[in-house]
Amino acid sequence: MESVLLAEGKTKIIWSTEDPSQVIIESKDDITAGNGSKHDIAIGKAASSNRTTSNVFKALEACGVRTAFLKEIDEIRFLAKKCEMILSEIVVRREAHGSYLKRHPEFSKGHVFSQLVVEYFLKTSEKRWNGGDIPEDDPLMIFDESFEHASLYIPSKPIRQQEPFLIIEDFPLKGSPEIIKQIAEIARKVFLILEKFWQLAGKRLVDFKLEFGIDPEGKLVLADVIDSDSWRIIDNGNYFDKQLYRDGTSLAVVMEKYQLVAKLTDNFVLPQQQIILWKASEKDDLSSFDGAMGDLLYLRKEEVYSLHKQPTQAIQKLTKLLQEVPDSVVIVYCGRSNGAGPILSAHCTVPVITVPAGWEKLPEDVWSSLRTPSGVPVVTILDPKNAVLAALQILATRNPLIYAKLRQDQEKRFCNIFTF
Ligand code: 5GP
Repeated sequence: MESVLLAEGKTKIIWSTEDPSQVIIESKDDITAGNGSKHDIAIGKAASSNRTTSNVFKALEACGVRTAFLKEIDEIRFLAKKCEMILSEIVVRREAHGSYLKRHPEFSKGHVFSQLVVEYFLKTSEKRWNGGDIPEDDPLMIFDESFEHASLYIPSKPIRQQEPFLIIEDFPLKGSPEIIKQIAEIARKVFLILEKFWQLAGKRLVDFKLEFGIDPEGKLVLADVIDSDSWRIIDNGNYFDKQLYRDGTSLAVVMEKYQLVAKLTDNFVLPQQQIILWKASEKDDLSSFDGAMGDLLYLRKEEVYSLHKQPTQAIQKLTKLLQEVPDSVVIVYCGRSNGAGPILSAHCTVPVITVPAGWEKLPEDVWSSLRTPSGVPVVTILDPKNAVLAALQILATRNPLIYAKLRQDQEKRFCNIFTF
C-alpha cells in the first residue's frame, strides 16, 4: 500500500502507513521563523532534525517518558504512533528568553527560575480561532482554578498591561483537568532530563516547546518532534539553536550548529551506575533503606562482608564490584565499632557513606567514622534515607533520570522570586 500524505507543515510531512495506528514523520530541509515570514531551504536540516528527534525520544523513553516515537526509518524519517494531537504548545523555561521577556519586561534576559516555568499556548493558524478572528496566533492560555475557562492573551505584549482578548470554554482538554496537570508534570520531567543531558555536553538548555497527543490506546504521549527548532540552548554565552537563524546568522553557521547538536544527542544515553549497600553481617537489617530509592531500586546492589573479620576478601569484592560498574556509590551500614566505612573508603575512589547502625543507643559508635586518619574520606550520615538521597545526588551529577526525579521533587517546594 502506498503512503498517503496526511498533513504537511512548514518543516515536516506526515505520511500514512499500512498500519492505521502508525504514521511516518518526514523532516524537510525548510527552516522558517516569524510564523513563516522568514523562510529558507537548508540542505541537511531534515537529517539533523530527524537524528536529533530520534535520539531525544529514545533517551526519554529510556527514562520512562511515554512518547509517540517508535523507530528511526532512515536519515529523514521516523515511525510514530498516530496520535490525536492536543492543540496546545507547552513551553517550559529555566531562564527568561524570547517571548517571555516581551510578556514580562521586568525580567532581564537570562534570569534563572529555580522552579521551572510552564506555559500553555493555544495552537492557532491564520489568526483564527473557532471561526472568529484573533489578534495573534498561538496566544498564551491561562486556565482559571476550576479549569472551566481559559483566558487568551497576546503573547508578544506585557501581560500586566493586558486584559484577556478572549475567554474560551472550548479549549483543548476541557473537562480533563487531570490530563492538563499531567502534561505539565511530564513537560517538567522532560525538561529536567534534557537539562542534565545538555549540562553533561557542557551547554545550557534554557527553554523548549513540546506537543502532546493521545495515542491509539487512548494514552497521553509526548508527540511531534524535539529538535533544534524546539529549544534554546546556550553554548559559551551564545545561542546554539534556531534563535541564531531568527537573529540573522548565516545559514551555513546555523546548519553547522544543527549538525553539531544532532551529533551531541548521539550521546544522550543513560550511564550504568549502582549503589552498593554494604553490611558487615547478615544480622544487619537493611529494612530502613527500603522505599528510599523508590522506582530506582534497580541501582541497588547488596553486599555482606565484615571488614574486621574478612578484610582481604572484602577489599577484593569491592574491587570486583567497581571493576564491573565503576560509577558507583557505597553506603555502609554496620554497628559496633563502625570501622567498615572508613576502611572501604581508603580502598576505592568512589564516595563511601557510612550509616552507623544503632547510634541512638550507642552514640559513641559515630566517632569511629568521624575522626578518621588521613586518606580516609568517608562521609557519615545518621539517617538511612538521607544517606540514600546523598548517594542519588552523587549519581545524579551524571545521570539525567536520577537528576530529574530528585529535582522535580525539590522544585515542588520552591517558588520563583524576582529581584531588581
Ligand atoms: P518563545 O515563546 O520564547 O518564543 O519560545 C519558547 C521556546 O519554545 C523556544 O525554545 C522556542 O524555540 C520554542 N518554540 C516556540 N514556538 C515554537 C514553534 O512554533 N515551533 C517550535 N518548533 N518551537 C517553538
